[in-house]
Amino acid sequence: MSAITNHLPTAELQALDAAHHMHPFTTGNELAERGARVITRAEGVYLTDSEGNEILDGMAGLWCVNIGYGRHELADVAARQMRELPYYNTFFMTTHAPVIALAKEIASLAPSHLNQVFFAGSGSEANDTNIRMVRTYWAMKGKPSKSIIISRKNAYHGSSVGSGSLGGMTPMHEQGGLPIPDIHHIDQPYWWAEGGDATPEDFGLARAQDLEKAILAMGEDRVAAFIAEPIQGAGGVIIPPATYWPEIQRICDKYEILLIADEVICGFGRTGNWFGSETVGIKPDIMTIAKGLSSGYQPIGGSIVSDEVADVINSGEFNHGYTYSGHPVASAVALENLRILQEENVLGHVRDVAMPALHEVWHGLNDHPLVGETTIVGMMGSLALTPDKDSRAKFAMDAGTAGYMTRERCFANNLIMRHVYDRMVISPPLVITPEEITTLGKRARQALDEAYTQMKDQGLLKPAS
Ligand SMILES: *Cc1c(COP(=O)(O)O)cnc(C)c1O
Repeated sequence: MSAITNHLPTAELQALDAAHHMHPFTTGNELAERGARVITRAEGVYLTDSEGNEILDGMAGLWCVNIGYGRHELADVAARQMRELPYYNTFFMTTHAPVIALAKEIASLAPSHLNQVFFAGSGSEANDTNIRMVRTYWAMKGKPSKSIIISRKNAYHGSSVGSGSLGGMTPMHEQGGLPIPDIHHIDQPYWWAEGGDATPEDFGLARAQDLEKAILAMGEDRVAAFIAEPIQGAGGVIIPPATYWPEIQRICDKYEILLIADEVICGFGRTGNWFGSETVGIKPDIMTIAKGLSSGYQPIGGSIVSDEVADVINSGEFNHGYTYSGHPVASAVALENLRILQEENVLGHVRDVAMPALHEVWHGLNDHPLVGETTIVGMMGSLALTPDKDSRAKFAMDAGTAGYMTRERCFANNLIMRHVYDRMVISPPLVITPEEITTLGKRARQALDEAYTQMKDQGLLKPAS
């Protein structure tokens, strides 16, 4: 076997990558032509690529590296656990200390009525668990007809067949026969793009009441659960108007619909609280977790389940589970991550230091001619690109073109900022310092300036008619 290491020339790594590695959410031929960016190492909030560039990671990987890169404590814990017990499963009446400790710790951090955890290897798997768990819950309660799960357009809940069906991403539904039966999608509370002349408050209320309309149309005896991210992440960091979530909670309570909060991004400090559910003031029956649970150092996810739902599920056999449910190494690493978040008071840093600094920098971009609005909650923010601020106009060119051009200028300025169509999103490591936030802001502005000039020169600043 020949050694493929960072010492190979970038072009060679890129050619081998294109020849043998199929990438997620990527056009393979385009990647082969341009070559993937090769990341070689990372420390704190900075990535290094094979050309020696130091790139500020404004996305914390994929919204997950909450404690930042390079924390050797997690590597040490992983090595120790691999030597002691690298693997054992949690099927068939067995368990081990790392999974027990992690479950107990998660229960202590979660709202007081959520005390049991069903583990998975990822957020997608955890949401697949949720589909089966809520349907099984109602069946065991003698109401098997309650099987419909209501979700939202432009939601992201994962990429497996089940979780991709829960999600509301049209390009995903177009491939591979999604959604599965009995998943229903209502409109999202995205005021800037869809609110028209309504005030954000009225619009938020109306979009929440779409849930009630859907329940009444299908019959409450048919609806098992409503699933949503407290704040949509991959959809473009869509922050609902303040009227939205209280109304959703009222409707779920009224019609006995289980509420699943997908906390895969919002959980573990991203919104300034342990969970986004606290930030938006809801009381979910199940919370989906992954990403920040281990700060991405190991693949692990799960469902935190209310006492009420767990009591019913535990009364029979739940024929469900993954080989890696509660994997000992992943559990030990996640536990160490939670220890660091608590002992280093990372949430305190977010609330008192990082959040105020990031909000100031982010809203400071609002005066840019390409920026229609800036929004941010905790450490997740987005801005809308527009050719005309006043009318909240979309571009005449294809949706996502302006976002893509801006993202490329971010890359060129050593900043990772993602685009979702024509929204730019950030979600940096929670441990980012004020100096690093200043750098982030400068690079973002530079990238916006360059993108603006480019669009202007090419005559692309035209609103859609
Ligand atoms: C990323 C994400 C998922 C899927 O998690 P994976 O670990 O990629 O399977 C689910 N829900 C939300 C809200 C996410 O952001």
